Amino acid sequence: MRCGAVLTAAGSGTRLGHDLPKALVPLSGTPLVVHAARALAESGVVDVVVVTAPAGHLDDFQALFPGGTVPGGQVPVRVVVGGVTRQASVAAGLAALPAEHALVLVHDAARALAGPGLTRRVVAALAAGHGAVVPGVPVTDTVKRVEPAAGGGEVVVETAERAVLRAVQTPQGFRRELLERAHRAAADRADDEARAVSDDAGLVELLGEQVHLVAGEPRALKVTTPTDLALAELLLSRP
Ligand code: C5P
Repeated sequence: MRCGAVLTAAGSGTRLGHDLPKALVPLSGTPLVVHAARALAESGVVDVVVVTAPAGHLDDFQALFPGGTVPGGQVPVRVVVGGVTRQASVAAGLAALPAEHALVLVHDAARALAGPGLTRRVVAALAAGHGAVVPGVPVTDTVKRVEPAAGGGEVVVETAERAVLRAVQTPQGFRRELLERAHRAAADRADDEARAVSDDAGLVELLGEQVHLVAGEPRALKVTTPTDLALAELLLSRP
């Protein structure tokens, strides 16, 4: 079965303290989105990549993929305009994915260091028959649920059992039919930042369908803050 990837890259660089869209921020001189696209291509199991770019930056993103392919490889790239939320961007990318791709990966450009092996692991689980697959890593922090306190601030409501928690990463993998159904069912919240979801597997869970977990990669951190970027630089310098 052919596999297409939606590479979400339409976010802003605000939390990174950058004027550039986050996906264009350089990591060792190469934009985050190019690192992420290369790893997808190097996996050898991705047939096409659809990149979601911020409106107004389509040309900047297209210029990163000369000849319409991932640099250094043959995998074709399509660049489309993303939406106002990540959920809307994924829906736009999915709509632009050619029909013959029955398997879909959704990957964040912000996870620039996710390696080709991670993509292969996710696609292998799809090939083994799972409809939805997420990579996850054990959580090292203790996680508590909180709610607003009557007098201001927050109070702890509950402490989660750490042993059963996983921090999930991307690429997440899906049978296309299932992901499209999940996005259709949640389409009314896609343009509302307060209600849109940041995790595609979460939409599949809302349908009552099972999501399979595979081992994630500690180095596939999501670059969100300047500290994350510095850490990613360090990790890149030590393969
Ligand atoms: O902002 P955050 O880091 O949570 O975004 C996760 C990923 O989703 C990033 O790769 C970002 O570029 C992408 N995104 C998007 N469209 C948006 C918002 C975020 O493609 N409207």
